[in-house]
Amino acid sequence: MEDRNSYSRNYSYSPLFYSPTKSKKRWFIKDGCGVFCAGITYGLVFYAIFVVSFILILPNIGKSTAYGLINGLIFGALAFLALASHFQSMTTDPGAVPKGNATKENIESLQLKPGQIVYKCAKCFSIKPERAHHCSVCKRCIRKMDHHCPWINNCVGEANQKYFVLFTLYIAAISLHALFMIVVHFIQCFDTQWHECSSFSPPATIILLITLTFESLLFFLFTLIMFCTQLHSMCYDETGIEQLKNEKHARNDSKWLNIKSVFGDKFSYNWFLPFSQPVMAKQDVYQYVV
Ligand SMILES: [Zn+2]
Ligand SMILES: [Zn+2]
Repeated sequence: MEDRNSYSRNYSYSPLFYSPTKSKKRWFIKDGCGVFCAGITYGLVFYAIFVVSFILILPNIGKSTAYGLINGLIFGALAFLALASHFQSMTTDPGAVPKGNATKENIESLQLKPGQIVYKCAKCFSIKPERAHHCSVCKRCIRKMDHHCPWINNCVGEANQKYFVLFTLYIAAISLHALFMIVVHFIQCFDTQWHECSSFSPPATIILLITLTFESLLFFLFTLIMFCTQLHSMCYDETGIEQLKNEKHARNDSKWLNIKSVFGDKFSYNWFLPFSQPVMAKQDVYQYVV
């Protein structure tokens, strides 16, 4: 027996809503404010890399301690993963519904049952699948749109949520790591000669370290809150917009299955890599052939 939910679920999972070239084509939103904010994000990460390298790591490597080498490797790896996650979040199609697909033939091809409603977007003229929302910045309807994030200059939606979650996780991790190294640096340098602790002048070192402390604290808190919010959204399979508008939809009760629907069907180290596209279980991608 089919109920209203399974109708809308079937219609929402129609291949009509997936662009066949979505995995091959790079995606980029031409929005001045978003490009500026994404540029600031890269600038802040490179600033942190500069200060951490020249004040917190290199003087320690000069003293040939394992501390400098190990922390240098950890910080470098985390910074690389954060930047790669950002790039993937920004340049991956978040789940845009093909523009203008609300044609008479397409609507007929859905073979709707009497009484079943099809939502059509008045702005991009697409058939709106269940849980899709129109983004006025991307000028498209996005499947499972969570929010539009200017820091990644893109929407967070069904197809790039994994990268966005990894971005918040790795930024929180490098911020915490930088804070740890700042504390260790102060303890180490408390009783030693200045020139052994920094190759910059005392005022320059203090300004660089204070700004890095503020940056790390601010970004650690901001991305940690964002990561927890995303984790909650994934566990309960509810997007930010649905939470805000109190929209209800049929959902899975298993938190683990819900997380798998974002990160991929099988748990592996690929979950933590921003280069691998999540591999979904068949039933999560196509349920219905038109
Ligand atoms: Zn739209
Ligand atoms: Zn958007």
